[in-house]
Order: sequence, then structure tokens, then C-alpha cells
Amino acid sequence: MRLIVAKSSGFCFGVKKAIELAKDSIHKYNTIYTLGPIIHNPQVVKRLEEEGIKSVDSIEKIASQSDTTLIIRSHGTTPQVIDKITKMNLNMIDATCPYVKRVHKTVKEFSDKGYNIIIVGQRCHPEIVGVNGWCNNKAFIINSMEEARELPDMNNICVVAQTTLDKNEWHEIVKILKTKYKDKNIVIHNTICSNTFPRQQEAREISKIVTKMYVIGGKNSANTRKLYEICKENCNETYLIETYRDIDFSKIDKHDVIGITAGASTPDWIIKEVIGKMQENFDANVDDINFQESLEKNFVELHTGDILTGTVIKVSQEEVVVNLGYKSDGIVSKQEFSNENIEDLREVVKEGDQIEVEVIKVNDGEGNVLLSKKTIDEKRSWDKIEQAHKDNSTINITIKEKVKGGLIGYYDVLRVFVPASQVSNKYVEDLNQFINTNFDVKIIECSKRQNKIVASRRDVLNEQLEEQQKKLWDSIKEGDRIKGTVKNITDFGVFVDIGGVDGLIHISDLSWGKIKDPHEILKTGDVVEVMILSLDPENEKISLGLKQTMPHPWDNIKDKYKEGQVVKGKIVKITGFGAFVELEPGVDGLIHISQISNERINKISDVLKVGQEVEAKILEIKPEDRRISLSIKELLPKKEKSNSEPVGEKEQKTKFVKEEMKVTIGELFKDASNNIDIINEKIIKKANEDE
Ligand code: SF4
Repeated sequence: MRLIVAKSSGFCFGVKKAIELAKDSIHKYNTIYTLGPIIHNPQVVKRLEEEGIKSVDSIEKIASQSDTTLIIRSHGTTPQVIDKITKMNLNMIDATCPYVKRVHKTVKEFSDKGYNIIIVGQRCHPEIVGVNGWCNNKAFIINSMEEARELPDMNNICVVAQTTLDKNEWHEIVKILKTKYKDKNIVIHNTICSNTFPRQQEAREISKIVTKMYVIGGKNSANTRKLYEICKENCNETYLIETYRDIDFSKIDKHDVIGITAGASTPDWIIKEVIGKMQENFDANVDDINFQESLEKNFVELHTGDILTGTVIKVSQEEVVVNLGYKSDGIVSKQEFSNENIEDLREVVKEGDQIEVEVIKVNDGEGNVLLSKKTIDEKRSWDKIEQAHKDNSTINITIKEKVKGGLIGYYDVLRVFVPASQVSNKYVEDLNQFINTNFDVKIIECSKRQNKIVASRRDVLNEQLEEQQKKLWDSIKEGDRIKGTVKNITDFGVFVDIGGVDGLIHISDLSWGKIKDPHEILKTGDVVEVMILSLDPENEKISLGLKQTMPHPWDNIKDKYKEGQVVKGKIVKITGFGAFVELEPGVDGLIHISQISNERINKISDVLKVGQEVEAKILEIKPEDRRISLSIKELLPKKEKSNSEPVGEKEQKTKFVKEEMKVTIGELFKDASNNIDIINEKIIKKANEDE
């Protein structure tokens, strides 16, 4: 025969504490009572009675005398009873389990706020009677899904559970309540004791694999009965026994696999007796005979300063309850949860979350373990800050305020100062723009002892810029077209940022036309496409061209202009032999002196001025020579033409001069802007000589 003993069997923390208090009182007081059996186990109650602690079911049965001590059992009681005890001048020992006390607190808090209280549990169980007292006995007590469905319509509801309730039942009932009151304000507090679920779960698992299951505990114990019901679902031969005497050994076969569990109010000695009898009768092979040891092993040991991960089992506005695998749960108060100002802890953490905590106090006097999450966060954050400082790596901070001399940001829970000079690698007009934004920084100074962290965003930006510049230099080549932003404009050209690196567009490369000031073409902030004309990595110089990204105006000149067409333009230059007219940037036409008027003209500047708008007729277009001949005269009335100087005379002279000098008109036009005056002087001089 094999025996499987549940490790989570036996006294829970609350019962153990109540028994200890009772035993302790035996040596201190003469007349001691418990209000109702101290725990639901007749054997334990009998033993205590033998030692002088009597159980009474009503306070009225106790004589009002000051040397009488009354113990409130682990199930707790109502505030009305406590009031009576005080008035009767009795000495009171409160052995209410801290978990139950917490339910009292929740119920009172919400009842005082005007909430309707729903208690899920057994109406007559002393724990529920006690809890109901904390809301003036006005709670709706339900114990099934049917009862949940039948509840009246109401708003502002607070739901709590009997500490020993089956978790699955609780979830089903909560589901119904959430649906029923989906449009109402309903607050659910899972107050099931953290001892209950593991015990029930283990019993459930064992009952699935055994042939017979024995649940040891008082028949009046709610949690023992619940264990029995759970096991019975899986193992038909489940028996609820108070001691080994209840076992019918004749029904046990040597091939049986026996499972044993026990309620929270069952003492170790009763469990050991049952195991002993099994061994005695069947030479049983016990999977875990050292019951107490296995129980102890099942709990972790805690010390102040321990850091461990626990599961959140309950969250309220003010505190988080964490199961650490210790005999009692840990509590993280709002102050110990975070440095941040959190209004309601339920907004940031939920049941089932795993959180890392530090033990501040193993026992706060009420059996609770006090925990802090904040100290862990601080430690972790400091570790990361120090590592980042050492590695010269970046961290991301959230800026919260502007102070004299810089900005204050937060890295997790730690305060970080960024001096104004370290905020950017450019001038920043107003630091307020960074509030409530995040950015990366490098730690330039940190001291845990002084609680001081100084950081620089400028270093990060400079590093990024360097990387960007390197990438750019590696990726560009002459002839590439690239987009950039006009950064600065000077007399000689325009500086354009092409991605962290500035290039220069010389004024002569801005336009195919003639410009005097780069501002005629661009302004600061303009985004332009430019061509890379030359690269000088050694001196970090880049020459850019803007006009090179546009078609040359002479490329399709015949599409734009036709011979005989009348065009408008501006006089841009006057020479001795004619006037140059800009038809568009980069395209000038020439009105020869003979084509200006029907009258004889001595000096062109007598009739035309630089900057003057004129209308002229295109006489000839020669794209190969980049030459357009224009005439104003052609647009004048013919009669005026008859009064003018014979046209052929000057033309003949010009032709003669051309032949003599071996210079073509095309050559004259080609480099007109540079050489035309010199050549013109020669032409005029020659013509005058001939005259
Ligand atoms: S089962 Fe939980 S709530 Fe009940 S007495 Fe034990 S520790 Fe307290």
C-alpha cells in the first residue's frame, strides 16, 4: 500500500496563532473562555478545556468580572460583541486571524462610504457572522450562483469572500455579479486566504490519483468540509474523518493508494496518528511521512532585506497583498510601492502579476510581512545608472520639470539633473518644450551616496551627429543628387545641410541666369535638391550645385522660341554694337544697334537703359552658337523705317570688320559677358578707321 500525504495539510497560520495565544494565556490568567470553539476541531477544543479554557456560545453566559479573560477566536467577531466585552470589563485576547481582520476592514471602509456589501460564503459560519457585523449586519450573503442571480438591482457594490471559499466557485459567482451589475459601480475584493487555494489544489490533485482519500478535520470545520467536497468530485471513496478511529480499516486493501489531507484546524498530532495507524496495519510505504518537516519545507524562510518574487493575490487602492510562499502573505503599501504619485494601486497592478519585493519586516505584530517594491526599483535603477556611467551607454529619461540651471528628469524612480548647457548641441530658446518628453542621455556624473545623477543629452546628440556624418561621407559621390536644407546664406553662396554635413553652393552654381545676391533664389530653411559637384574628405568640404539639377535653358530653346515670335525681356547689358536682352535666366538675345530704330543712333544708351523692359521680334535662333538675334525696329511702323539711315551700310561695315579680324559673331556671343567689351572696342575702332 502507498500513502500520499498532502504537504499543505494541517494548521494554517491563523489557527496556529490562535492556539498559541490560547496556550500562552493559560499561564497568565485564571478564568479563560473562548467565544465559541477556538477552532473547529473537537479534539483540540477538548484538550484546551482540560487545560482550563472553556468554550461558551454566548457572551451572556459569562459573569461580568474583571479577572475573566475572553479569547476571540480566529474566525473573528462583530464590533457589537467587542463593544459588549468592553462594557462588561472583561479582559479580551483578540486571536482573530489577520486575514479575517483585513476583510473586516474592507467591509467597514466600503460600508462607511455607502456601498452595498455582498459576502460570498456560508451565512451561519462564525467568520461570516463576524464580517457581517462590520457593515451593521446589512450585507447580502450568498453562497451559490443561483443566489447571485437572484440579488436585487443596486449600485455601488463591494463584494468579499469567505476566506476558505473554493476559488473556482468564487470566480463563477464573480462572473455572474459582473454581468448582472455591468453598468454599476462594483468593486470585487478576492479575500480568499492564500493558505486556502494551495491546500485545496493539492487535495484536488492527490484525489485524482488515489483509490481512497481521507480528509482529516472537524466535521464542523468549513474548510475541512470544502476539502472533502473537492476530493469527492475526483475520488468516490473520499472519507471525512476526525481521528484514525473513524477509519474502517477493513475496507482498505493492500493494493490501495491512499491519499491524506487535513483541514486548516487539524493539529499535527492527529495527522501523525492517522499515518501511524496506516503504517501499523499495512506496512504502508509513505510518500511523505515527515509531515511537519514537509510542511515547513513547503514554506520559504524570510529575513529582513530578502529580495524575492511573489504573486499578487489582492489589490486595493492603498495596498497590494503578495503571496511569497511564506506562511503569511506580504503587504506592499502605496508608499512602499513607488516613488511616483499613484492615486489607486489598482491602476498599475492586478491580481496574478509577479512582482519583485524586498522584505522590510518579517512580522508587523499582526503576522503580516511588510514589503517594499520601491526599494527594489531604486536598487535596480541605481545598478543600471552605474553600469551606464561605466559603459558610457545611454539611458532614456522622462523630463518632469524645469529648474534653475537645467531640467529634472526621471529614470524609473531616480531623479536625474540635465544642466541647460547639456540639453542640446544647438542653442535652445525655451527649456519648457522638453517637459513631459523623453530623451536619451549619457551619465556624466553619479553618486549613490549623495543621491546625485547628472546627465547630458548634448553628448548623445554629438555622438549621433558624428555617426550620421560618417555614414553620409561613406555613401555620397560626385554627381549624386541629394536633398538638403538651406542653413546659411552669404554673399558668395549658400550653405546647405545635407544630413549632418554642410555643403556650399557657390553663387555661380545657383542659377543658369545671372544673379547678384543668393537671396534672389533661396532663403534659410528651404529644402532643395542639389547635385554633389566635388568632395574633399580631407578638408571636409563639399561643393554643391543647384542649377545642375535643372535643364540647361538652351537645351530645348527651339521649343520655347520661334523665329518671327515677339518676345519681352529686360535689357541686361549695353555695348557699342547692341543691347543684350534677358529672355529668361541663362538666355540672352542681342538687339544689334541697326535693329533698334529706324533712326540713326549714335549711342545706344541714348535710347535704351539697363533694366528696361523691351518688346522685340526674334529674327534668328542659332542653338549651336547659343545666339538669338532680336529686333525692335521690325516692330516699328514701316514709314519710320524709310526715314532712317540706310540699313545696309552699317551691316556692310560690320561684315568687313568680321572678315578682317577673323572673328565670328558666334564667338562674340559665346563669351559675351567676359570678352564682348574688348572685342566691341576693337570692332568700333576698326569701323571708325574705315569711315
Ligand atoms: S484559513 Fe486563512 S483566514 Fe482562515 S484562519 Fe487560517 S490563515 Fe486565517
